Amino acid sequence: MTDQIATMQAPAILIVDDDQGMRMLMREALEVAGMVVQEVASGEDALEALKSIHVDAVLLDVEMTGIDGYATCRAIRELPNGRQLPVMMVTGHDDEQSINTAYEAGANDFLQKPVSWQLLAHRVRYLTRGGRMRKALEASEVRNRSLLTAVPDTLLVLDNRHRVTQRLGAPGDLFNASVTLIGQPILDLVSEDMRPRLAAALRTGDEQDVVTEFEFVVPSAMGDRVCEGRMVQYGAEKRLVMLRDITEKRRAEAHIRELAFFDRLTGLPNREQLADIFEREIAGRSATEIGCVAMVQMDLDHFQRVNESFGHEIGDGFLCATGKRLEASMTAGVRDQGRALVCRFGGDEFAVLLWALRDTEQVKSLVEQVLASFREPLQQSGRSLVITPTLGVAFHPDHGADLAELMRATGIALHSAKAAGRNRIAYSDGSSSAAMRDHLELAAELRQAVSERKLSVAYQLQYDLRSGKPVAAEALARWTRVSGQSVSPAAFVPIAEESDLIVAMTDLVMSESLAQVKRWRNAGRDLRVAVNLSTAMFTRCRLYDWVMAHLQAADVPPQALEIEITESVLMHGSEQTTGELARLKRSGVHIAVDDFGTGYSSLSYLRKLALNTLKIDRSFVNELVTNSGDAAICGAIIAMAHSLGLEVVAEGIETPLQLAFLRDRGCDMAQGYLLAKPVNASECERMFDKTLLPAGTAIATPQDLNAVLMAR
Ligand code: C2E
Ligand code: CA
Ligand code: CA
Repeated sequence: MTDQIATMQAPAILIVDDDQGMRMLMREALEVAGMVVQEVASGEDALEALKSIHVDAVLLDVEMTGIDGYATCRAIRELPNGRQLPVMMVTGHDDEQSINTAYEAGANDFLQKPVSWQLLAHRVRYLTRGGRMRKALEASEVRNRSLLTAVPDTLLVLDNRHRVTQRLGAPGDLFNASVTLIGQPILDLVSEDMRPRLAAALRTGDEQDVVTEFEFVVPSAMGDRVCEGRMVQYGAEKRLVMLRDITEKRRAEAHIRELAFFDRLTGLPNREQLADIFEREIAGRSATEIGCVAMVQMDLDHFQRVNESFGHEIGDGFLCATGKRLEASMTAGVRDQGRALVCRFGGDEFAVLLWALRDTEQVKSLVEQVLASFREPLQQSGRSLVITPTLGVAFHPDHGADLAELMRATGIALHSAKAAGRNRIAYSDGSSSAAMRDHLELAAELRQAVSERKLSVAYQLQYDLRSGKPVAAEALARWTRVSGQSVSPAAFVPIAEESDLIVAMTDLVMSESLAQVKRWRNAGRDLRVAVNLSTAMFTRCRLYDWVMAHLQAADVPPQALEIEITESVLMHGSEQTTGELARLKRSGVHIAVDDFGTGYSSLSYLRKLALNTLKIDRSFVNELVTNSGDAAICGAIIAMAHSLGLEVVAEGIETPLQLAFLRDRGCDMAQGYLLAKPVNASECERMFDKTLLPAGTAIATPQDLNAVLMAR
């Protein structure tokens, strides 16, 4: 702002000359050019005047009575406002001696008599402009200097031989006394081993006009300091080096690295550390150098149930106990030979990198010991629990040349051990990878299908055995692959359950079937739709809110929905789960227990829970007529359910005999291929009006029933 005003104002000039005529001519020439002129007749007067007035330049005659121009100029330079004041000497001499004396006295310019009046104003304007620029520069330098003092870096100016010539900026504590710095080559300030690197960085900086960065260690009384340097060219012959003490930053990074290398829960090394150790100890070495190398992955069987039953805190405790047991077993196993790095990858996934072992036999006996060690229960918070592991093992380099391949082979082995029934060990043989690949492909395609809403829903009607009318329709997910092959939900639902995909999939089925039941109800069909919910849904979403949101979105009453849950939800469900179920039931949503009788024989929990219906598993219904044991169980389940105020649905009814039997025992509802197969919505509608049995029809024998069914 002030700079702007200065440039807009007319330059003020002081003329110092003892020749009045000369003063007048000069004034003329300058005033015509728009300048403001003041004049004095001697050096003494000039010095006096400059104490009180402000001018932008001085025109100073050399030869004057009293003190001459040279002396006056020197004196001006001593004045507080005179140091930077532009001074032009005017003289009749043009010898080199006079010119030199003028500049030595501090003159900025030199004008020779006779004066060219046309040029005078230009010369003076040029002079004042230079003065103003210098002033602005000075101001900016003051700003820069305070900036430099404010930055935390130490700034060193080096000459072109990399010697420190100046130290700017904050004193910092990188170098203690500046005296020792000045004049020293910067290379001498760093520890010896750092010199080649710093020298190379300095060379690069000399050769190219770029910012070079380097890091070095400065030995200091408080221990070595890590220093980060940046060098830029600073004028032609100079270099500016900015040094920052990054000792603390490096220390924090090391700490973070340490944290990043260990699993927080168990304190065991993590996946990153395993990768690091593999790179440093194993990669690129021959078998003679590192002995036998193996990777072991271990998952705990059904660990989710532990979390669901006891809560995550106790679950975490069991994970720690698992880590300890695994480590103890491994440490014992490599006591005589070998190294073992026991890691946790997260969740219930553990891994062990084994190297420097004798042979594959040693590895095999080691993992068998691990498996055996988990037969003993683990203790946690006064609880004692047997948690069995499943292990996959692969050898390096046979099953994987690098870590990624080795891990993949181990994962495949683990997968096949799980598929074979868990609580066992599987060794990689390279052949099971196709199965794994298929599995992964299927999972990826399913994810795609769900996101594109390409799954459909089939409906299977359930009939009331008293009225013979359909009262509900079970929604069953259907998926046809891009290849045209249709995949059974028994195959794809477990894949979805491996990840959060189950939530998206159930979301899809839920919204489809609620929209469908809404249409049916609008058309006067007072049906319920029954949707299957995986156990995973209880842990992965807030079920009550989720269901309510769906009902609201579809604009159907809670009575239009039934949810089918499995016994495991009831057995392992946390308090939160049972709470959510109770709220759902209170809202009017029907709750049915699916596949009843296959899970846990304990029926005591049924009493505690909020339920409406039991669905007798179709394996009982299957054998009903031929197996008297199953017949007895069916009868008992029906009687017990009724005593608890629950309704019973029999599913998987395929023969009239099965139907007759169940109806006889007082079973409330029936579902099965005999009555209606799962079909799409429009086919389902066509079956609405075909009642199961004409009301009041008595069925005495299977033949009777057959006759009735044939008549439909
Ligand atoms: P589920 O819940 O027990 O469903 C009944 C299954 O039995 C259905 O197989 C159905 O087609 C079949 N079924 C019905 N009547 C008969 C019969 O008379 N004889 C025989 N042999 N089978 C009969 P589906 O549709 O293949 O479903 C298999 C399982 O997949 C279901 O068993 C259910 O556990 C699961 N599932 C299907 N859809 C979903 C879904 O949307 N969500 C979840 N979480 N699971 C689903
Ligand atoms: Ca079901
Ligand atoms: Ca079922």
